[in-house]
Parts: sequence; structure tokens; C-alpha cells
Amino acid sequence: MQAIAYERATDIAGALRAAREPGVAFIGGGTNLLDLMKGGIERPIKLVDITHLSDDGLDAVTTLPDGGIRIGALMRNSDAANHALVRERYPLLTQALVAGASAQLRNMATVGGNLMQRTRCPYFYDTAFSACNKRAPGSGCAALDGYHRTHAIFGASESCIAVNPSDMSVALAALDATVQVRGPGGARGIPIGQFHRLPGDRPDIDTTLHPGEIITSVDLPASTLFTHTSYLKVRDRASYAFTLVSVAAALELQGDTIKGIRIALGGVAHKPWRASIAEDRLAGQPLSDAALHEAAAAQMHDARPLRDNRYKVTLAERAIVRSVNVAAGRESAGVTGAPA
Ligand code: SF4
Repeated sequence: MQAIAYERATDIAGALRAAREPGVAFIGGGTNLLDLMKGGIERPIKLVDITHLSDDGLDAVTTLPDGGIRIGALMRNSDAANHALVRERYPLLTQALVAGASAQLRNMATVGGNLMQRTRCPYFYDTAFSACNKRAPGSGCAALDGYHRTHAIFGASESCIAVNPSDMSVALAALDATVQVRGPGGARGIPIGQFHRLPGDRPDIDTTLHPGEIITSVDLPASTLFTHTSYLKVRDRASYAFTLVSVAAALELQGDTIKGIRIALGGVAHKPWRASIAEDRLAGQPLSDAALHEAAAAQMHDARPLRDNRYKVTLAERAIVRSVNVAAGRESAGVTGAPA
């Protein structure tokens, strides 16, 4: 059995000092990390407990000078989802958070931890399978010729075809969020579209965080786009399951014309996938079923499905149409948009 050191940090500076050596992991809610440690997938030499940091704003929602909001990285997912400012100004985020996980997990998991959760590819979690480049770089990818019904149709590589499991991150992609981090090199903001990586030949690295960096908050800009929104999550069972395909949609209408639109897809890539092709086709156009179907089909044109996940192309195309229609008030959310 491997001994694991434990240190409880009291502020960010102390947490950064405690994480200077390689092999150290920050632990917040622990809802993903502890599972990974129990399975022998993550083997940190030391855990730095960041649940008691005293710095201002880490477990709060505060307003920003531009009218946006800052959500502290240590806020529990349930608290973020239920916060009055989030519910009022960013209902898309509340919808995505409530669609993710169980109530018990949302009560434990933090906003920062949600961003850091790792793929749910079954080969990654089962060490009985030797071939997994994400878990053991250079070992191969068992999913390529094996079970890949739930895997990526965009942005995959020969090294890894896994998808990012976070519902919250899909909403953040549509909301143009910025992830604020602090590390040995100082503080910086990372646009959400640059926070998660595509697998390339290093699928073992999920994010663009530098060694020793810690997430401090997520910033959401003010926008008139964010009042008409929909988070549509399609999954095998409505009660509790990871997404097959999800669509976060936010739009502003001027009469029947789409003044602006944001669409992001989940369950289709190693990172939240911004549907910029569909956005470009729809912006400034009258909202109609024909325009939506045409834009969604154009978005999915470059998908690269595998043997057993071709259904995702059609599913995502239809989900884009439906989610935008729900956001526009032309359709009801129905059961797939209901809370877990
Ligand atoms: Fe591992 Fe990625 Fe292949 Fe899954 S898809 S087995 S996580 S390398």
C-alpha cells in the first residue's frame, strides 16, 4: 500500500507552496479524485486539502464591474445552481448543473472540481484493461476497436477517443466563461474554449493548466444573450446517467430574427464543442425549422463517427434543433430537460 501525505491549506498561497513538488493533487469535494484513487488510476504522493481556504470569494458569487459575475471555485455545484444571481442571469448554468450527477454529488462537488473531472471511458476506469493511453501513456486505446458507443465524433485522435463528461463545462462554453487560475507564475484567465485540450498524442493531459496552478473562480460576462436558454441532455436513462449528447443554447431574438446565438455541444468531444458553424449560419437569420435543420446539418457535416457511435451524428443534429427551439420558447423542454 502506498502512503499518501495530507496537508490542509489555509489560503491559496499556502496551497501553492504545498503543491510545489510533482505528484501532488489538490482535493476539494473529492467526488472524482477519490474514485480514481480507489481504482488505482490516480496515485498522488500528497493531497493538499483546499476546502478550508480563507481567501475572499472562493465559495461565493460576486458581481464584476462589467455586470458579469464571478463564481468561486470552491462553491458547491448545488449552491452555484441555486444562487439567485445565477438563476436570474445565467439560467443555462443552473439547468446544466441540475442535469449533472445526483443531488448528493452536487452537494459535495465544487465548481473547480467539476472543470477538472476526468473522462468516464470504461477502459480508463478499469485497470484490468492494459491499453489506455490516457491512464498509461503509450499503451494503446482499447476503445478504438472495442466499446465506443459513448465516445467522440469530433476532435478525437488515434491515441484517444474519450469525451469530457462535464455538463457544467458545456454551459460555460456557451456562456463564454473565463477560468481564473493562480500558480507559481502568477494569476491568469483562461477562456473556457482553451481550458480543456483535445487528446492529440498526449491524452493523459486533460487541460491547459500549468503544473501547480489552482482554479480560483469562473467568470461569466454580462450579455443579453443569456436570458433565453436551454440545456438539453440526452442520456440512456433520465434519472442518473452521463450524457450521450447535450446541447447548451442561448439566444437573443428581435421579433423572429436571431440577433445573436451561442450553441455548445457535450458528449461529442474531449472538450465542450462550440457549434460555431451552426451559430454563424443562424445569426441574423429569421428563426425557422428549415434554417435550424440546415444549420444543424452543416454543423455535423465534419463529424467523424466510429463503428458504433454513428447515431450521435443524427442525435446531435436533432438535439441542436430542439434545444434552440426550446430556448426560443417554440417547444417545451420535456422530460430530457428535467432535473436528475
Ligand atoms: Fe483510454 Fe482514451 Fe482510449 Fe478510453 S478512449 S481507452 S480513455 S485512450
